[in-house]
Amino acid sequence: MFLVRFCGAESRKLIALFLIALGLKWLPLRAQEATLRIFFPDVGHGHAALVISPTGRTLLLDGGPDGAGSAVLVPLMRDLALSRLDVMIATHYDADHIGGLDEVATAFPPAVAYDSGDLTAPRESRLFTEYVSAISPVRRTLRAGDEIDLGGGVRATCLVANGDLLSGGRVGIFGRSDPFDQLENSASIGLLIQYGDFDLFISGDLTGGGGATTDVESTVAQLVGDVDVLQLSHHGSATSSNATFLSRLKAEVGIVQAATANTFGHPSVEVVDRFITTTPTSGTRPTPPDGDFPPARPPILFQTQASPPSDTRVSHQGFVAEGTIVIETDGRQYTVRGGRLQPRTFPTDGAERGVRTDFPPTILTRTSPVIPQAGEAVLLTAQIADDSGQIRSTRLTVSVNEEEPMSLPLARFSKTLFVGEIPGQPDGTLVRYCLTAEDDAGHATTSCGLYFAGITPIHAVRAVDAWGAPRYEGAPVRIIGQVTVGSGAFNRMQTEVFVEDETGGIRVFELRSQDRPVNIGDRVLITGRVKSFHGLLELDITNPLPVPP
Ligand SMILES: [Zn+2]
Repeated sequence: MFLVRFCGAESRKLIALFLIALGLKWLPLRAQEATLRIFFPDVGHGHAALVISPTGRTLLLDGGPDGAGSAVLVPLMRDLALSRLDVMIATHYDADHIGGLDEVATAFPPAVAYDSGDLTAPRESRLFTEYVSAISPVRRTLRAGDEIDLGGGVRATCLVANGDLLSGGRVGIFGRSDPFDQLENSASIGLLIQYGDFDLFISGDLTGGGGATTDVESTVAQLVGDVDVLQLSHHGSATSSNATFLSRLKAEVGIVQAATANTFGHPSVEVVDRFITTTPTSGTRPTPPDGDFPPARPPILFQTQASPPSDTRVSHQGFVAEGTIVIETDGRQYTVRGGRLQPRTFPTDGAERGVRTDFPPTILTRTSPVIPQAGEAVLLTAQIADDSGQIRSTRLTVSVNEEEPMSLPLARFSKTLFVGEIPGQPDGTLVRYCLTAEDDAGHATTSCGLYFAGITPIHAVRAVDAWGAPRYEGAPVRIIGQVTVGSGAFNRMQTEVFVEDETGGIRVFELRSQDRPVNIGDRVLITGRVKSFHGLLELDITNPLPVPP
């Protein structure tokens, strides 16, 4: 692992000698000096986070859109009387993230500027060219596993970049031909910022499988673990913050940086619903608020600007700052304030105590076929990786139709490749599988998946829990039925149809790539994934099956 140290042993030794020469043992630490501050400035539609450690070391993560550097970030840094910028990081190269970085670099030349290198560099982009020329003498590539020591006990750890994971594993994000796969977002750097018991995760526009994107989040989540604060990826877009990711992070506080004027549907109502009804670290799953107002207890969302008022796709359940959101923490509790917000103090959630430097394994599973025919066995391959390189034990369990799980053998084919076989099942059988891996330090990760075998009655797919969320969210399934609402009935884009069998009906989305219309009365076979969309349960056929590794 590569270590960036600002407060090296040598300089500490020199300071100590100097103080001893003065007859002092050590300078007393004042209370406010032990505070880590993170600013989420109102940069309009874009990302930016300014981190100031207790020792005054500074890190700027993204710079908002073009102009936000001069208009927002530089004035903020001057207001804070900052004398320098120690570290600049670009999570990825979208305009709303790098646009203002050159302006900041001109006023506050960073000592070092990190990004993910040139694999996804948009060489034609003016903003990218301006960004690179502003920081080129100090430009470095940040890689998964790199640590940035900000001093005073604050550590930023790069968990993912370009789909490469700190564990040594990899989510394959390159080589897809789908024009909607959002490669540059999938390549985003994900940074875990830790101080005492306080944990914050920021990952630019990292993708979670929504739309046609690659699901990087679910695997990264295994490294992130339980956090206190999460900056919701991609401004709360429906492409990110999937259920697996949110339920592993269990964030008490979420931050969204999006503009009232945005036309992208940020923050998405389904993402915010998912966020505020995720079971927090301690306690029970919150009841969804009965209406369109912010909930009273965690998980709580804060946003820099109000959501677009007349966009039916967005949520209005966040607390709005209409200004810069600031988080201050001593590593035991943290306060969220700024703009119009009433300051609120939260205790750290008690999980993931202290600053972690040793991470659990990552597990990335694939099943083939994704939806087996009745009686057909499924080959399960798993990429299991760990930062120590040592996997002590693995365990594969399978449960059929929610019955007691049974253990199945898992064979090791290489250092990171493991293979198991799940026996064939009759039509409509729900299969859940879980894989657990433990490293030599005893850190364990469990990764689970599910599918329906053969052909499944629609009513079985439709099961929901008390929150109205699909019981089998994300499950791949095959149905056969008759079209009751044909393509083009709802909109000219011909994106959706309704299909019915003897047991029930379901919305199927989206058919844009379908070259011929689907008409009422057609008998169709459909494969897709179960998904909740604006409170409507549907079969999502957007993402091709199987999902690429
Ligand atoms: Zn963005």
